[in-house]
Amino acid sequence: MDPAEGTYGCPIGAVCFACRGTEDLRPIVAASPAGDLCWTACARCARGGVVLRLTGYAARRMILEHREHAAPL
Ligand SMILES: [Zn+2]
Ligand SMILES: [Zn+2]
Repeated sequence: MDPAEGTYGCPIGAVCFACRGTEDLRPIVAASPAGDLCWTACARCARGGVVLRLTGYAARRMILEHREHAAPL
């Protein structure tokens, strides 16, 4: 699946969530055991299949936020 799929409503952060880079940022959706979430990735991290290390709390918050991005029109 294209990781850019389903990110139409997702905001793009100021820096890459994984490496803090600022080049060619885009939101990507990642699956987690508790649900899909989105994060901002630079081109390199988006390509590299970076696995985010999130605490359960952070992951739950990102999942809730992403549900709002993806809310049906
Ligand atoms: Zn990056
Ligand atoms: Zn989102």
